Amino acid sequence: MAIERTFSILKPDATERNITGAINALIEKAGLRIVAQKRIRMTREQAETFYAVHKERPFFGELVDFMISGPVVVQVLEGEGAIAKYRDVMGATDPSKAADGTIRKAHAKSIGENSVHGSDAAETAKIEIAQFFSGNEIVG
Ligand code: GDP
Repeated sequence: MAIERTFSILKPDATERNITGAINALIEKAGLRIVAQKRIRMTREQAETFYAVHKERPFFGELVDFMISGPVVVQVLEGEGAIAKYRDVMGATDPSKAADGTIRKAHAKSIGENSVHGSDAAETAKIEIAQFFSGNEIVG
């Protein structure tokens, strides 16, 4: 399988509980390398752009409000089949349905406050990485 890059966010419920290191440990244990990382506070505009695909969903307003409610850590992860691998490590969107050993099973609070984001496909990974990182901030 090819070496890929995927985009990750450690969401406000993770920074609030000071568990970003615990989540990074699970990421690294899965064989993914954190090749870029920064702690930021998303603007409303950034969050709305990032989640534009969900604009018509009933939870959109709640999702944007949550994503700007505190700091987040944005990351680029690299590894073999990184996009699918990180989705596996994250676990199901709803933590009550997430498998044992996944980040969301261990740490997520609810379907909304679910600790992490990971890109769902190669094309979205590229777009999402470019929204938050310039090329020289990614060091593989
Ligand atoms: P993901 O790819 O597993 O993150 O899930 P989705 O792309 O389906 O949804 C994006 C994000 O929207 C999720 O990670 C949640 O934070 C949020 N979300 C999804 N479904 C719900 C919901 O029913 N209620 C709320 N409040 N947030 C939701």
